[in-house]
Amino acid sequence: MTPEEVLQEIAEQTKVCTMCKLHHSRKNAVPGVGNPKTKIMFIGEGPGFHENEQGLPFVGAAGSFLDELLEQAGLNREEVFITNVVKCRPPGNRDPQSEELDACKTYLERQIAVINPDVIVTLGRVSMGHFINNGKISLIHGRKFWSYGRMIIPMYHPAAALHQPSLRSVVKEDFAKLPAMLTEAQNTRQSSPDLSDSSSDSPMETPPSENDAEQLSLF
Ligand code: URA
Repeated sequence: MTPEEVLQEIAEQTKVCTMCKLHHSRKNAVPGVGNPKTKIMFIGEGPGFHENEQGLPFVGAAGSFLDELLEQAGLNREEVFITNVVKCRPPGNRDPQSEELDACKTYLERQIAVINPDVIVTLGRVSMGHFINNGKISLIHGRKFWSYGRMIIPMYHPAAALHQPSLRSVVKEDFAKLPAMLTEAQNTRQSSPDLSDSSSDSPMETPPSENDAEQLSLF
């Protein structure tokens, strides 16, 4: 199967998934969209009202801000892949619960494995938690971590910056660093080709501390 076909198969599975209770209130699953061959993936928390209506990620106000941030980093939606840790809307936009995150993990991990990106940008605390245990977003936003051969960059969620205007410039500064970080990740992976073996993909177990953020590597 081609990466496109694998992503399509995953998308079809999310539409009929009943592995957690979020399917009861699902109008449309939101599996994610973008370029199957991208080098950079953006992972948010879960669909909100508008995403549940349309079946597409980040189409509300936070999505408009995300578009602005992507543009600033010289990227657009067509060249990246955007998804969420849970594919169905948590009612009232509450945080996804641990059993929902566990149930949906299989879809995200298969998406990551087939896309095999150099860089994963997590948007918000919940998405960061998939890769980094006990991380504190206020301390580690915009910094790089290495997990199973990929660079993970935790960012504030765009919606957080909309609710807290002082974060706007912080998020913009973090996104402005993305092009250089992507180049660094590509160079690092090219110089160690075995790292891009997608079969080794899974979230790291060890909680990085504030001090070893840049050094932490599971290579
Ligand atoms: N917030 C998210 O985390 N994901 C979306 O798709 C929309 C809003």
